[in-house]
Order: sequence, then C-alpha cells, then structure tokens
Amino acid sequence: MISVKNVYKDFDGFKVLNGVSLEIEKGEKVVLVGPSGSGKSTMLRCLNRLEDVSYGEIWFDGKMITRSGPYLHDDVILVSNTYKKLLKKQKESGEVNEIEKADLIQKIKDQRLLKRWEGFEFRKLLAEKQKEFGIDINLARRKMGMVFQHFNLFNNMTVLKNLTYAPIKLKILTKEQAEEKAMSLLKRIDLEDKANVYPVTLSGGQKQRIAIVRSLMLSPEVMLFDEPTSALDPEMVGEVLELIKELALGGMTMVVVTHEMGFAKDVGSKIVFMDEGKIKEIAPPEEFFSNPKSDRLKEFLSKVL
Ligand code: ADP
Ligand code: MG
Repeated sequence: MISVKNVYKDFDGFKVLNGVSLEIEKGEKVVLVGPSGSGKSTMLRCLNRLEDVSYGEIWFDGKMITRSGPYLHDDVILVSNTYKKLLKKQKESGEVNEIEKADLIQKIKDQRLLKRWEGFEFRKLLAEKQKEFGIDINLARRKMGMVFQHFNLFNNMTVLKNLTYAPIKLKILTKEQAEEKAMSLLKRIDLEDKANVYPVTLSGGQKQRIAIVRSLMLSPEVMLFDEPTSALDPEMVGEVLELIKELALGGMTMVVVTHEMGFAKDVGSKIVFMDEGKIKEIAPPEEFFSNPKSDRLKEFLSKVL
C-alpha cells in the first residue's frame, strides 16, 4: 500500500534520513521506534509530504506521493547528459560493454552525479513519469490521517465544529452528513455530551481522542500517529492507546511512532527501529523484543523497557 524507496532527506546538508526503504501492506500496523532525533517524525512527515524528500520516492496505492526521483529509474539516467558524458569518455579507451554501462549507471547513483540540468530528453522523461504516476497531494493527504503529539484542535471552534469543518469545507460531506458522522464518532468514544463545548474545557486525553476521530471524519485509508500520547498525563495515556488499538483491530492500516513498548508489542504487526536516519532493524514484535540483533537496538531496548 505504501512503499518507501531509498528515501534521503537533508536539511541544509544535515542528513536526517539516509536511505530509508520500507513496505507497508494494507492492514499492517507498523510501529516506529528509535532514539530522539533518529528521523521518525521526518519519516512520517515525508509520507504525506509535509516534508519533501531530498532523494527517493514514496508510493501510495500505485501512485507517487513524491516527485519522481531520477536515481531510481535507469531509463531516466540513460538519457542524462552526465551519463552520456561518462559513456563518451569511456568509449575513448575502447568499446563499452553492457556490464560497463550498468557500472556507469551504478556510479551515477552511488555518487549522486546528476546535476540540476541534464538536458531536454531527461527532463521530458521525468515529467512523463510524474504525469503517469504522480498523485494530487491533497487527495493523498485526505487518505492519510495524521495525529501529532500535541492535539491540534482549533480552540476557537466547538468540538462538533472541529470535526465537521474539513469535510464540509472540502465538500466531501454535507453539513447534515458531517454532523451525523461526527455525532456517531463522538458516541463511539463516549464523548457525545462534549459536542458543543470548546476544547479548552477538555482533558488532554479527551482532546487527543477527539483529534483522532477528527481524522476519521475524512475516512482515511491510513493513519499516521506521531507520539500521540507523549504529551499526556500518565493517567490519560491508556484511553488514547485504547482508541488506537480499537482502530487497529478494526483493520486500519497505521504507522505509529511511540515510546509505549507495551502498545508496540500488543498492536504492532512489525516494529521498525530507526537510528541515525536509517532503519536498523525490522521484525515482528516477539522477535524484535526477545531477539534484537544489533547492539544499538539492545542498548535502546535496555533503556526503554
Ligand atoms: P525524531 O522524531 O526521531 O526525534 P526528527 O525526525 O524530528 O527525529 O528529527 C531528526 C533530526 O532532524 C533532528 O536532529 C532534528 O533536529 C532535525 N530536523 C527535523 N526537522 C528539521 C527542520 N525542519 N530543519 C532542520 N532540522 C530538522
Ligand atoms: Mg519526533
């Protein structure tokens, strides 16, 4: 469903993601763990293009979320000026065979030799790929709900208005439909009686649960959670995790960044360990926790468990 292909991200030369590849199947619950600063939030933000990747591609349901990444397409590299120049140079010392040509392509990929301008043919081919596989990002974002650490409810709107605002504005639901759906979601989390109050009157746990059902108003196919409980008082963590777990059991595909290892064990279909902008280990929960392979993960687990 989601395919992350060799994604790099740097901020002004500071490397935050260093070649991340990850497959997420429909219905999977991927739990992303790792030390602070390892790139987890950046990874999530790249998934719905709140950040643009520096290199690589992210695909969602057969469509490309990112711009097309030339380094992932040999046919694009083949028509680049850089390739042509390298080939010409090599030809000066004799015939070039297919293996050597493939080596040139690999060299361009490994050393990231492509420049800003690689000729009309190159640009045209990239544009064609973009046209064929690119997705309307607003449409994609609608299919990916995101919930952050700090509940981003609009404080100047009632709970009901918070829930109905986007679907009405985007003309996905009529006012009546939106209100009906909002009320049934509030009922589901036992907060029907809060429909007409303002967020300021709610507890942190209530706010976060409302932020979650607000995402559900757009009927997303995937939910992305970035440390959804880490800003909460401890006694409220449970109710929020419980709701996420309920969604998981309902079949929702999700990617959850969390430090709650109990939740990870309980709900995750695979656990991904990130460190220094790379995925260092991926395993199903039992294996991940009972048989960590790298010293780095062992060390991490000894701190968090
Ligand atoms: P995590 O969520 O795992 O703690 P982040 O993805 O938030 O990690 O951040 C990874 C690194 O990227 C951190 O060192 C952070 O300072 C840096 N970073 C994140 N966002 C930006 C940004 N917009 N500009 C510059 N550096 C950033
Ligand atoms: Mg983070």
